[in-house]
Amino acid sequence: MRKIIFNAGPAVLPEIVLAQASEGILNVNNEGISIAEISHRSQLFKSILEETLHLIRELGAIGTDHEVILMQGGARLQFAQIPMNFLSKESKAGFIDTGYWAHKAMEYAAYYGQTDIIASSQEKQYRHIPNTLDFKSTKGYAYIHLTSNNTIYGTQFHQIPVVESPLIIDMSSDVFSRVMDYSKIEFAYACAQKNIGPAGLSIAIVKKEFLARAHTQLPPVFSYQLLAAKKSNYYTPPVLATYISLLNLRWLKAQGGVSAIEALNAQKAKALYAEIDRNTLFENHVQTEDRSLMNVCFTMSLSDLEQQFITFCEKHNIIGIKGHKVTGGIRASIYNAQTMDNVQQLIQVMQAFEEKCINK
Ligand SMILES: *Cc1c(COP(=O)(O)O)cnc(C)c1O
Repeated sequence: MRKIIFNAGPAVLPEIVLAQASEGILNVNNEGISIAEISHRSQLFKSILEETLHLIRELGAIGTDHEVILMQGGARLQFAQIPMNFLSKESKAGFIDTGYWAHKAMEYAAYYGQTDIIASSQEKQYRHIPNTLDFKSTKGYAYIHLTSNNTIYGTQFHQIPVVESPLIIDMSSDVFSRVMDYSKIEFAYACAQKNIGPAGLSIAIVKKEFLARAHTQLPPVFSYQLLAAKKSNYYTPPVLATYISLLNLRWLKAQGGVSAIEALNAQKAKALYAEIDRNTLFENHVQTEDRSLMNVCFTMSLSDLEQQFITFCEKHNIIGIKGHKVTGGIRASIYNAQTMDNVQQLIQVMQAFEEKCINK
């Protein structure tokens, strides 16, 4: 039986996408060859890549002012590649520190240039998103970096702040989960393994004007300008991961696209938070208006109970709800591919667990 998967990433994919992917593994497009065997220079792969880039544009309503780049590797590689391209020892990048990943992006940038914290919610254990009124001046930076959804702490920017320097956003855990105005963003990026497809690739959506500012004296594999010019087919792209991502993006389009999935995501999160707030055993510590619609983090009064709850879930076929090691607790990731039915199953198990504890 297929499990109910709440993993933070790599995360659940639609079952139909997995079925199509397994067909492609054996015989892609009935061409008598596996997707894992085709050349990245073949017409077939070129068309797969083109359609993937096209769908990213279409789903994100991304205009001609932006380039879309597909790359090997995950978000941490981008943490390094971004400052390699856009920062120097003479310039400074500003960071909005909303927790683990936001902080990591800053640590990586520090190898290449100066860094500065514009705002932070560290003092309150990252349980909220910093208010723009508390931001330091955002002028004069090579770029300002923020993390739109904080996968580990369960917080999310529900409004993207306006800043006075180029804006770079790590959207790894909420890309295409909601409608976003990319015209206001110089550089958005995401690793694939939360909302796009399997692990192994990242996407970047870069304003051409900003791309023109990138350093060019770089090993070509790191140069965004070169990768864009080569239409994301310079080195061997992650062919299989790209193909499965394409299947998943087609699936997203068939669901009605980003605005339709956004409405569904809101319903899933609402139902789950309502249960956490109602249930006497569970608590969510995030400031209500900053709660993430993607990663629902919660705790129990006794950490002993948390382990019992996780085991209880496993008995009911639910996996992947243990919180990240830096925060502990419980985390249910409800990305695009998570169904409302699965969320309802989790809610029922939470209720059954409450009942069991009370009647003991
Ligand atoms: C998962 C995640 C990362 C790390 O991604 P890797 O591909 O493992 O490097 C970075 N930022 C955010 C917001 C994430 O959710």
